[in-house]
Amino acid sequence: MLNELCAHARETQPEECCGIITGNGTERFRSVYRCRNEMTLLHQKDPERYPRDGNRAFWMNEVDYLKAHKDAESHGEVPSAVYHSHVGAGAYFSRMDQEFASHELFPFPDVAHIVIAVFARKVTQLGIFEREKESGEFTGRRLEVRGGE
Ligand SMILES: [Zn+2]
Repeated sequence: MLNELCAHARETQPEECCGIITGNGTERFRSVYRCRNEMTLLHQKDPERYPRDGNRAFWMNEVDYLKAHKDAESHGEVPSAVYHSHVGAGAYFSRMDQEFASHELFPFPDVAHIVIAVFARKVTQLGIFEREKESGEFTGRRLEVRGGE
């Protein structure tokens, strides 16, 4: 699964990749569904509302994630994480990421968030972030990736 995330992040750069991960009761992170990043299109249509393009932000294509959700459910899995990459930046959960994850229209409010950092075509770091139940704040941990080319 990690290999698939790293491959996706490398293929879409310089744009950020995004998608969802689904799992079941025994294996939380099991299947990866790639989604198209709509942010460049949104930015071109309405740069005031969407000031960043797909190189610096992501917006999951709705058809893609609804299809993924349905497919996962058909074999007993539910969304457990949303992932995206940062190109030329570390695997941190940015303020904008937090706002996006907390937005009322965000389709999967209770999932974990995985961020993949890509520098010079190599995946260097992965971060996983989750919302704490009591405080509502996101906390996470990061892993260094060796040989992520
Ligand atoms: Zn981000």
